[in-house]
Amino acid sequence: MRVRLLAGLGLLPWLVVAGCDTGRIVTGDGNDAAPGAGGGTSTGGGQGGSGGGTGAGGAVTPGTGGAKGGAGGGSGGGQAGTTGAGGRAGSSGGAGAGGATTGAGGSVGPGGAGGAAPPGPSGLPPAPGAANVPKPSGTPGNITVLNWAGFSSAVSYTFDDANSSQISAYTQLQALGVPYTFYLWTGKTDASNSVWATAVKDGHELGNHTQSHQSAGTTQDINAATQFIMQHFGVQPWTMAAPNGAAVYTTLANGLFLINRGVADNLVAPNDNTDPFTLPCYIPPTGATATMFNAEVDSAHSAGRWRIILVHGFTGGTDSAYQPVPLAEFITSIKHTTSLGDMWAGTVVNVAAYWRGQKAFSQATTTMSGSDKTWTWKLPGNFPPGKYLRVTVPGGTVKQNGAALTWDPHGYYEIALDAGSVTVSP
Ligand SMILES: [Zn+2]
Repeated sequence: MRVRLLAGLGLLPWLVVAGCDTGRIVTGDGNDAAPGAGGGTSTGGGQGGSGGGTGAGGAVTPGTGGAKGGAGGGSGGGQAGTTGAGGRAGSSGGAGAGGATTGAGGSVGPGGAGGAAPPGPSGLPPAPGAANVPKPSGTPGNITVLNWAGFSSAVSYTFDDANSSQISAYTQLQALGVPYTFYLWTGKTDASNSVWATAVKDGHELGNHTQSHQSAGTTQDINAATQFIMQHFGVQPWTMAAPNGAAVYTTLANGLFLINRGVADNLVAPNDNTDPFTLPCYIPPTGATATMFNAEVDSAHSAGRWRIILVHGFTGGTDSAYQPVPLAEFITSIKHTTSLGDMWAGTVVNVAAYWRGQKAFSQATTTMSGSDKTWTWKLPGNFPPGKYLRVTVPGGTVKQNGAALTWDPHGYYEIALDAGSVTVSP
């Protein structure tokens, strides 16, 4: 997501700013709903807020003499600096108002990162395609859940065992802008490394790979790892990966987690009958090339399915990671994935919650009250809060908890799975 959005900054209109000697740094964190501000001359790139209202472009500091403000708007909130790194943009930008002003000796600043339609509540990356899909206005009918949050397919990159080469490669992995899932073997010293706190802050998932990595697993050993992760990193692991792919965890994980990742080699399809407590994955051989990774990604992409990939470490690591792969090849393969443009690279918890949520919705019961139709569903146990489905309808007003939902011009409503029901009214 990061890659695509950063690239989008290059499309922003440039802005002539008057006499704005002082750099400004915007540090919106992606949740801001505030209007995007126009670009000044910045010394550092800020992180953009997601969306925002109508962006006010234009210069900030008036002076004498005169340059004029440029047009704001464009993708996402936040602004880039002239010398700093580009902002981490939010969702699509709407029209920004050109801010004109007069000033002395205008210097060139980056375009105002304008506002947009407010971001969806899910926090998921916007679905691919232009944000110009009109709100359906036909006769109300059924609700259709978009597969994979509106993407064509999905991929999750998982790393097992908290190996040293994952830690040493973290900066390079993070730079690729893809979220990962790290399954921590918490009995290892490396599980205490501060990099995992950074990973949480950066939006990656920490999952449970047990405390002592036994094939003869126990609930106690699983729970010890959960406690470790919560105490050290302040997050609850919602997913686990079975040490050695041992079958005992298929039973043990059910009742403790949303899913358990096993080691069988397969893809997952929307609404299919894959056992959530032994999800399949691809484990590359020692020295795997980018071409080999890409083939796995491409097969899921063309099939409209979800591929989970499991890497233990990188060539040259110091702790004997299982079947290490060259970091450069892995990086090349990630770039291939992001270049596809319509494949959802998400953490296991996010994709799994979507997959299981969609399946729960497919089993919803429906009731009529007058001309209102309501779907009611039940989520499975150990389901993380705050998850959403993206749905479309032929028409009508879509409501949850009595409030009408906002149409996202990428082509969907986002319905909260926690709500347990949704109603469509004419
Ligand atoms: Zn392992």
